Amino acid sequence: MSVTARTEAIALERVREKLEAGERLDGADGLALYESADLLALGELAEQARRLRGGGDDVYFVRNLTLNQTNVCRVKCRFCAFARSARQEGAYTLSPAELTAEAGRAYEQEPYNELHLVNGESPHVDFDWYLETVRSLHAALPTVHLKCYSASEIHHMATLSGLSYERVLSELKQAGLDSLTGGGAEIFSPRVRKLIAPGKEPAENWLEVNRVAHGLGIPSHCTMLYGHVETLAERVDHLLRLRELQDETGGFLAFVPFAVHLENTRLDPEIVPSTAADALKAIAISRLVLDNVAHVKAYWIAMGLPLSQIALGFGADDIQGTVGREQVFHAAGAITETEQAVDRLVRYIQAAGRVPVERDTLYNEIRRWE
Ligand code: SF4
Repeated sequence: MSVTARTEAIALERVREKLEAGERLDGADGLALYESADLLALGELAEQARRLRGGGDDVYFVRNLTLNQTNVCRVKCRFCAFARSARQEGAYTLSPAELTAEAGRAYEQEPYNELHLVNGESPHVDFDWYLETVRSLHAALPTVHLKCYSASEIHHMATLSGLSYERVLSELKQAGLDSLTGGGAEIFSPRVRKLIAPGKEPAENWLEVNRVAHGLGIPSHCTMLYGHVETLAERVDHLLRLRELQDETGGFLAFVPFAVHLENTRLDPEIVPSTAADALKAIAISRLVLDNVAHVKAYWIAMGLPLSQIALGFGADDIQGTVGREQVFHAAGAITETEQAVDRLVRYIQAAGRVPVERDTLYNEIRRWE
């Protein structure tokens, strides 16, 4: 065994001992896991962690619809192929009534439990446009869980309106908002944000929006966008900051790691695209480090269904849902289908030796396939 392999084996053994003793992993452990090339050992450790923390064979998914009301955005993240400026070809902004009609038509074709709505941060709308949208969706689809807007969009609404995060979130909740999406976290390091998303709010604001939301009883999701200019230490720092907030509030429902898609973006063309091994590592290490977030998603829209299926052996317990009409990842070159029929999700989960469970957004069970 080479010196490097021996050092890696010692680090993984230390993680295993901590897991078995119920001890929390620290930043040095997280980095050692990322530096390890022993992918199968990482998967085994992540699965051990998942089961030690109460996970069983269940794998969750939701019947949902993803919509985007506008792709007009002032932020211009370098990794984004979805955003347009208002006069650019392909720019669109739907009124609350148009969006509600689209959501209603989709529901008539195929009922869903969750509506996932994210947008560009348009400077050409006001807070009332958001409130009216949520009110209108809630009135038309009262049984559908409205999972709308990232913490970054809430920050944008606060900027547009001059209102506090608390007031923005309270008014949205009163209008019918049920939870927040997890986008906009990217990587928290200011060095990285400056390089890939210089127009985006600092990490502290993203975290504060989530803190306030959780305090108001609005749960949310958390994410990490990796595979661009960040270091492994910056990925670990990102996970630790999420874990710290979750210790404080307990309001994150699930964590979702995404690899950046490079096509049609303004990122450095020299960036080497992430591999399947990177995706599996991200899943496994987030399961190990985020010991207080109950669910880790293998988001098939970004990873593809076959790799999501494999990620179920690396600590993931959720593959998101039927999704429908996804545009953000596909603009940046994702080649996955944009809609997965329930029977296909069920078949992939069962073929991995696990039990498919249809859930709602809050992880209440709707149906299981034994
Ligand atoms: S990622 Fe979001 S905030 Fe950034 S440019 Fe794209 S739409 Fe705008």
